[in-house]
Amino acid sequence: MDVDVLIVGLGPAGATVLAKLAQLAGSELSILAVDQRSQPGFPVQCGEFMPSPEEMATLMPDVPDALQFFSFDEQFISTHTDRISFFSPKRKVIQTPFQGYTLHRGKWNTHLIEIGKKYGAEVRPSTCVVGMKNGKVTFVQNDSKRTQVTPRIVVGADGVSSRIAKWTGLAEKRPNKHFVIVKQHVMTDLGTDYDPTDVQMFFGEKYAPGAYSWIIPKNDNTANVGAGVRLPMLKDDMNVSKALSNLINVHSTASRILNGAHIKQTIAGVVPVGPPYQHTVDLKSHTILVGDAACQVVSSVGGGIPPSMVAGSIAANAIIRFIRKKVPLTDYQSQWQLQMLKMFKSAFKLRQFFDKISMGRDSRIQWYMNRLNSSDINNVVHCNVPWKVSLAMPFMRVLNRIIT
Ligand SMILES: Cc1cc2nc3c(=O)[nH]c(=O)nc-3n(C[C@H](O)[C@H](O)[C@H](O)COP(=O)(O)OP(=O)(O)OC[C@H]3O[C@@H](n4cnc5c(N)ncnc54)[C@H](O)[C@@H]3O)c2cc1C
Repeated sequence: MDVDVLIVGLGPAGATVLAKLAQLAGSELSILAVDQRSQPGFPVQCGEFMPSPEEMATLMPDVPDALQFFSFDEQFISTHTDRISFFSPKRKVIQTPFQGYTLHRGKWNTHLIEIGKKYGAEVRPSTCVVGMKNGKVTFVQNDSKRTQVTPRIVVGADGVSSRIAKWTGLAEKRPNKHFVIVKQHVMTDLGTDYDPTDVQMFFGEKYAPGAYSWIIPKNDNTANVGAGVRLPMLKDDMNVSKALSNLINVHSTASRILNGAHIKQTIAGVVPVGPPYQHTVDLKSHTILVGDAACQVVSSVGGGIPPSMVAGSIAANAIIRFIRKKVPLTDYQSQWQLQMLKMFKSAFKLRQFFDKISMGRDSRIQWYMNRLNSSDINNVVHCNVPWKVSLAMPFMRVLNRIIT
């Protein structure tokens, strides 16, 4: 079986490529999109938080028509938020205004897939890609039927453990500090202290060694509640389940909201928080990597939905130009770098700074957070290093020795 384009994976990245490409190409291209899940997009493994279009236009100023591009129809928004609160290990709270919303990510993901189908693409759920060699891709459908396709172009949108990235040699070997292990509950019947307009982030050894834990409102009574940890920062018998349990039961502020609430659903996952891959196009196999498969994530916060949307859209356009005008597929890489690389670099710089001060130690995080205010945190959530932090950087080693 021959197809023009094979899309592997239908999370936000693959579903964006599918919808845009199918719309642009109509019947000009045969598009096959596969996902190993029986219902692509579900279960939703995500906090679902998105900055508002205005915030996105500031964060990614090089995305054309950013305000329009990042606008979602209200049916895909479960709630709007207007603040982010950072909680230090010793409960200092720093709040900053930040307009955002929580997506109905599963519903939006399904909508994108439906657009793809409407414009003629073939979508096969319960279909796992198991091999890629000499221009042929092998997949297994419903755990039994083995099929081979010969695509002209392959889109690897198969997430953080992308096999397409490995098979094409585009994957870069990464140390485990570049991954956050996460666990999240959807919790309902929250306590009276719950504020559905406030996104809360908690720092500290007990709640999120090397990362942060969160309460992201979904509506007046329900929130995504999660914790992230990084392996090099784990001490003793700490793990991600304990971190989440501590947030719910031990943290003096969070427990007032969460202790006694009901868990509706639990998921776990891994978020790549290293820099994006340097090479995201394999010219030999005509493959491009999109989304988590290419580590296109805002590494300071673990935000991957907006980059997936941008990269997915650029990928669709690049494929069309390649087919129609023979513009090399590397155009995809130049375009996403033009629109997002600056932000990825700033975010990674912030993450490295966080690593330097914390190394999982509460005393250091507390010392630095005591010196930060709302405007500094506003810089952080916009992927900018606050001036105080830049000033402290050259003395960090000495400071760290004094603080510990
Ligand atoms: C708990 C958690 C909370 C998060 N919170 C946020 C947040 O609040 N805001 C934000 O912006 N980002 C958040 N992220 C990050 C965000 O979810 C990801 O960056 C985003 O999902 C990346 O989309 P993707 O399409 O690249 O990958 P994925 O969503 O992982 O999709 C990959 C798809 O590929 C399929 N697949 C994998 N291998 C194969 C195969 N061999 N064959 C066929 N199909 C395959 C999978 O089934 C899956 O559907 C969070 C992540 C986690 C885990």
